Amino acid sequence: MQYDYLIVGAGLFGSVFAYEMKKAGRTCMVIDRRDHIAGNIYTEDVNGIHVHRYGAHIFHTSDTEVWEYVQQFARFNNFVNSPVARYGKELYNLPFNMNTFSRMWGIQTPAEAMEIIERQRAEAKVENPQNLEEQALSLVGRDVYEKLIKGYTEKQWGRDCTELPAFIIKRLPLRFIYDNNYFNDPYQGIPVGGYTKIVEKMLEGTPVKLGVDFRKAVREEEGAGFVMGDDRFAKVLYTGMIDEFFDECYGPLEYRSLRFETEELPEVDNYQGNAVVNYTEREVPFTRIIEHKYFEFGKDSETGEPIKGTVITREYPAAWEKGMEPYYPVNNDRNDAVYEKYRSLAEKKRSVIFGGRLGMYRYYDMDKVIRAALDTVKEELG
Ligand code: UDP
Repeated sequence: MQYDYLIVGAGLFGSVFAYEMKKAGRTCMVIDRRDHIAGNIYTEDVNGIHVHRYGAHIFHTSDTEVWEYVQQFARFNNFVNSPVARYGKELYNLPFNMNTFSRMWGIQTPAEAMEIIERQRAEAKVENPQNLEEQALSLVGRDVYEKLIKGYTEKQWGRDCTELPAFIIKRLPLRFIYDNNYFNDPYQGIPVGGYTKIVEKMLEGTPVKLGVDFRKAVREEEGAGFVMGDDRFAKVLYTGMIDEFFDECYGPLEYRSLRFETEELPEVDNYQGNAVVNYTEREVPFTRIIEHKYFEFGKDSETGEPIKGTVITREYPAAWEKGMEPYYPVNNDRNDAVYEKYRSLAEKKRSVIFGGRLGMYRYYDMDKVIRAALDTVKEELG
């Protein structure tokens, strides 16, 4: 059989691409080396709870078109991410807002909070922030930095805040109102019934082969596309690691990995009272605990009944080594420069399109992945 595209990776990018191409009358096949579809947004049903197997995924966007786009695949609930941070026995609301400041300094008004932060900023004497520590100090001052940022960030990225790029922290809002909504975006929610169903819908009618490794299974034919068994493909959409695709000819890119420890607690109905609790001390080895049922308010998405028992996941940051899942690209200057080299190589390779977090080596949120996939489709269809 002859296909227009072989899509490598059944994650969000590949699935949006498959859906749109099918709609445009193109033929695609999808392969993935994992034994399931949906990549890192995979959710699995454990006693009526949709467990986010690869970490919490909360959909949020400012892009109206993308928000409307995802509605065709699922109904989204009105979940609002309001994580709590634990620093020893102290509990703080995130993101940094009046609730956080009031708890930290025993103050009540925005003017009081601003005055303290202003004073701490001035003490830090940072003019032009060059790294994450300087950025954080000049944004929120020392107290918030030391209790809520430093330990968490150093655990997550495995290096000192002085060695990390400032942009990572720019994801975090700072507010002088009593508002615990973690995201600034106007649209937010969790797909009722889990993310896997969305991807199933996107891939409806497209053949998918699981447990297939691109490099082992697919042969490139000079000028004539790609071959896998009896199937031929004019082009490849590759959403795996771009450095791996090119046999690391310019050296390996760096990634951060994660290890998830999931526990089913049938006897416990309410473990932590919130979907996400961050542990911001460096000494605690995990960064957060997710209590999955609270992404859907502790209720069964079909019956609306309260769910008995619970499932929690501890998230441990880990250094990435070959063979592990690469969750985050490490976008520092060195890696971005290496990536640029791979990108120019990729540009010359007209029969392969690179997409997604790993193919484009970017710290993408889900909405950005969808936007990028839609743009790629547009480009392809001309
Ligand atoms: N962060 C922090 N303290 C927190 C939560 C986040 O300092 O309690 C910082 C940290 O630098 C982290 C970044 O914000 O790398 C982004 O964190 P977030 O949890 O939003 O990222 P995700 O892993 O969910 O993409």
